[in-house]
Amino acid sequence: MIKRDKETKFIVVTGGVISGLGKGIAAASIGHLLSSRLKVIPMKLDGYLNTDPGTMNPIEHGEVFVLDDGGEVDMDFGHYERFLGVTCKFEWNLTMGKVFAEIREKERRGDYLGKTVQYIPHVVDLIKNKFFEVAKKENADIVVIEVGGTIGDIENELYVEAVRQLKKEAGEKNVMYVHLTYVPVPSGVNEQKSKPTQQSVNLLRQRGIQPDVIIARCKQYLDPSIRKKIATFCDVDEDAVISGVDVDDVYKIPLIFEKQGIAEKVHRKLGIYSPPNLRLWETLLNNLENLDKEITIAICGKYTKLEDSYASIIEALMHCSAHTKRKINIKWIETTEIEEGHKTVENALEGVDGVIVPGGFGSRGTEGKIDVIRYVRENNIPFLGICLGLQLAVVEYARSKCSLKGANSTEIDPATKYPVVDIMPEQKGIEKKGGTMRLGAYKALLKTGTLAYELYNSSIVWERHRHRYEVNPEYHPQLVENGLVISGASEDNRLAEFIEIKEHPYFIATQAHPELKSRLVEPAPLFFGLTKAAINYNSKKTAR
Ligand code: GLN
Repeated sequence: MIKRDKETKFIVVTGGVISGLGKGIAAASIGHLLSSRLKVIPMKLDGYLNTDPGTMNPIEHGEVFVLDDGGEVDMDFGHYERFLGVTCKFEWNLTMGKVFAEIREKERRGDYLGKTVQYIPHVVDLIKNKFFEVAKKENADIVVIEVGGTIGDIENELYVEAVRQLKKEAGEKNVMYVHLTYVPVPSGVNEQKSKPTQQSVNLLRQRGIQPDVIIARCKQYLDPSIRKKIATFCDVDEDAVISGVDVDDVYKIPLIFEKQGIAEKVHRKLGIYSPPNLRLWETLLNNLENLDKEITIAICGKYTKLEDSYASIIEALMHCSAHTKRKINIKWIETTEIEEGHKTVENALEGVDGVIVPGGFGSRGTEGKIDVIRYVRENNIPFLGICLGLQLAVVEYARSKCSLKGANSTEIDPATKYPVVDIMPEQKGIEKKGGTMRLGAYKALLKTGTLAYELYNSSIVWERHRHRYEVNPEYHPQLVENGLVISGASEDNRLAEFIEIKEHPYFIATQAHPELKSRLVEPAPLFFGLTKAAINYNSKKTAR
């Protein structure tokens, strides 16, 4: 066992009955309540055999969230960062892909020489060691461990065994188990049902884990009789059965938990207390409850059917909503429909006060996006381009303003005559797909007097990236001569990180993904700027 400087406490969050109950949000909410004075570090354990979700289709797995250190992780880390205010690290995410890769490496190196390498103790020990390693390295007061999947899933059994053994190793008073279940209200009967919770807790107990707290997801607060029943059958205190009531806004969950005394339960079990500081959140949530007028922002993409693919963008807009007190309607625009002639840009953008062209890969829908960009540029509609959105804005500008007919990105048209967006030199020849993009936080220098500088109020920014292509440096002079402002660049001045158009009310794009660092208390500057410009555009429109 790894020696620690202090006795880190561990809160283990498991889920039962069905998936999709919001285990990540529940874990992040508990963490949030404890994090005002304590150092809370989240860990997430995923059962899949991929190293990370970087190579997974966003339609299947939702948004790939990128960390400062370049780690590609899933959306839950977005919740952790936003709820805990921490900068997460790749090693806080375990996947069975990573675990087995390390076991294999150790075995080949001879670390287990003479031994039969087994799930128990070797694999489970390796997992447990990761908990202690992270606790020590981060000098954590609390590590919140979210066990992926639903109790009973084959692929998560080794994690469940590891968190069971954790209690013995870290000490009973240092480990707390929280189990998230589901209380359905079947139509017809119309009453809350506790049986799935009982059965799920039984599955947990078969694996040697007795929960200390049960959070029951339900569309209403739990009836006292159901709460009592769950307490009796599952052997927990009645006040340790928490209603995980459905909400329209996940940011309310910490408040709902707090009202039911969850921080107090942590105190009772782990002897650690940190009074939650919820004042600012409460004010911002109050704003969200009392939104004034509405504006509409369009998001143009090809994964628009699955909102999870753009989770952080939606979050960033919500943060702006809380600060401007405006309701932001999102209009999803499937640009393939424009490209295939089923819709005109004008029709698609009807009622829209601002447009986002987000990140993306491949060529489908890109001509439609270019048409949208041309339209917003010519019609002074506020625009924010993100990653692919920047690249396409440059393609559009090159075609329309630099007389480079047929200009394109080589990702879309490898044979283009004018490759204004091209693969980065360091990406050439890379064949392996996993973890090989330009990933993570990079420094950009902003030019004074530009919109980017004004929005960030700084000349140095660090935003996160995930791309292989860039604006081709050979075309910088031509683009600039024709009026495009490269307002931010990498330190060596080669990579265009921010572009904008001076005479437009709000036309800005970045090679980075600023949505990933947006917080409820501090919205991402480019999104905040877009929201304010869209409010302006809207009020001018209504005044007309
Ligand atoms: N496909 C583009 C690239 O790889 C843009 C990536 C993105 O939008 N995240 O550079």
